[in-house]
Amino acid sequence: MSKLIIKNLYKRYENKGKKKTDKNEFAVNNLSLECEDGEFIAILGPSGCGKTTTLRMIAGLEDITAGDIYIGDTRINDLHPKDRNIGLAFEDYALYPPLTVYDNIAFNLKAKGVPADEIKRRVHEIAPLLKVEDLLDKMPVSLSGGQKQRVNIARAIVRRPGILLLDEPLSHLDGKMRQALRTEIKRLHNEIKCTTVYVTHDQLEAMSLADRMAIMNLGVLQQFGTPMEVYDDPANEFVAGFIGEPPMNILKTTIIKHENDFYFTFENSELRILCPRRYYDLLKDGMQVKMGVRPTDIYVGGPDSKGTPVKVAVFEDLCAERRIGVRVGEELVMMITEDETRYRQGEQIKLEVNGEKTHLFDLETGNRIR
Ligand code: ATP
Repeated sequence: MSKLIIKNLYKRYENKGKKKTDKNEFAVNNLSLECEDGEFIAILGPSGCGKTTTLRMIAGLEDITAGDIYIGDTRINDLHPKDRNIGLAFEDYALYPPLTVYDNIAFNLKAKGVPADEIKRRVHEIAPLLKVEDLLDKMPVSLSGGQKQRVNIARAIVRRPGILLLDEPLSHLDGKMRQALRTEIKRLHNEIKCTTVYVTHDQLEAMSLADRMAIMNLGVLQQFGTPMEVYDDPANEFVAGFIGEPPMNILKTTIIKHENDFYFTFENSELRILCPRRYYDLLKDGMQVKMGVRPTDIYVGGPDSKGTPVKVAVFEDLCAERRIGVRVGEELVMMITEDETRYRQGEQIKLEVNGEKTHLFDLETGNRIR
């Protein structure tokens, strides 16, 4: 059983929280997560949110300030790193330069005293899974970044760890290699089904690889869910603004009631958007909230549109899609369209918003309203 359970985990570094620029006392603040046997989870968040610290505590490379970590039924807090049955691959490949690829992959098995013929069998079993079978006689210096990372991951899984920990394994690779290895990691996981925790700040990586993703900010878990749940139903303003490219538009709004309907209105703007009916029982005339809408849920109306006239402030043609930015009051609102029209800056268009697709967040806390 390689279920990973993290319960109320805290990390406080000696000097952290003392600087004026970093008042946050905890690098990891009351984190609880459960990763099922064979599941692939991603820990995602901006720089400094506590991703690596969490991974290092699971690996036993960092002391735990408070809380517990279990693998299956075993509490591993006090186990030596080598007794945790964990495979680790970090972003810097850290291969041993004087050893061949074969010896690099075999290194930990040798150290554990596994017999040579068993080592040979295991290395040759793992090498094709990572497409390094033709590299076994080479020295690390002659490998590309992508090849080094493949060897690094092969070395981590050859011991058949209960849990595989990957920390930004693609971050040193260029675009094409990144994409290729990302696909390989997905395929590898489908084949070996090893419980995996993958740390990244890249939402595309997390979305494409993970069964579930844990989004962190300032040491605090913001949401843990499938990529779809996190995208469609963000728990708070931070998650809404972090996931999606360009991110969700989030605007301060005053709700007004007109006849039997509620509308979002915006300072210094004519725009009115019909509120989603599922929120009607909570809404009141004059209430202030934040409204979120994805750029894909805003449209340019046709000639007969009853949408609100606005001027194009930004137009970006990315070939597969076009991005249009318009001003709503002082705010820049982005939309994505597949319509092939090339708009000019300053041109007037009619803005239509799918009100049912909007999200509501509390003005003070930023938490999703219901
Ligand atoms: P990145 O994506 O930049 O690697 P991260 O999300 O992995 O960031 P951590 O490296 O876990 O974040 O750092 C979390 C917080 O703890 C940051 O504020 C960081 O400055 C602080 N921190 C990390 N290591 C130490 C240390 N050894 N001593 C003091 N503070 C530390």
